[in-house]
Order: sequence, then C-alpha cells, then structure tokens
Amino acid sequence: MPYYDRRCTACSALRVDSWEPTEAPTVGCLECGAPTERVWIGKPAAVKSDEWAGGKTFENGFDKPRTFYSPSEYHKALAERGLKVRGDGEEGTWGWMSRDTLEKAKELVTRCSS
Ligand SMILES: [Zn+2]
Repeated sequence: MPYYDRRCTACSALRVDSWEPTEAPTVGCLECGAPTERVWIGKPAAVKSDEWAGGKTFENGFDKPRTFYSPSEYHKALAERGLKVRGDGEEGTWGWMSRDTLEKAKELVTRCSS
C-alpha cells in the first residue's frame, strides 16, 4: 500500500504519510473528525549527503586497501596520486590506470599487433 498525505476538508489539519489502500477509504480527521482529502505535499528533496555511512573500502588505486568516508575524501586521495575516477569529469579518462600502466598497456598492444 502506498503512502498518502491527507488534509482535513474542515480544519485543514494535515496528516502526512498515511498508509492506506489505493482505493481511498474514508479517513476522518484526527483533529475534528471531518472527512479528509488526499493531497500531495511536495516533500523537500533529500539532501545529497557527501558521506558514505560506515565508509567504503577501495582496493584499487592505492598501495593497500583504504577506507574513505566520503566521495570528496576519496576523490582527493585519488587526485593526490594523479588518478581519477572513470567518468568523473573528463570524457574518456582511464579510471585506475596510472601513466606507467597505460604506457605498458600501449607497449603490449603494439607488441601483440606487430
Ligand atoms: Zn479536521
């Protein structure tokens, strides 16, 4: 069953997140008992938090697994190592590859195709 918001037709009291079947039952106002109508109350957009609850551990990109507690902390640490998250900003960025790895990969491709 979905949640609805209701407003009293008599006293305008609001009841938010009323859990009820789609076929609207008659719900009386908790304040005055008058019938209520379904309304849509625009919920404030969830604040995008720059946090990873409990942290996230990454094994790639660092010498040993490291745990970060926010994307910005993670991106900062990557940037310090000259790395970027793929698709983060520039188009066609090689995610975890350092320049050295990229050179080796290029070498390998050249060797295999000749
Ligand atoms: Zn009421």
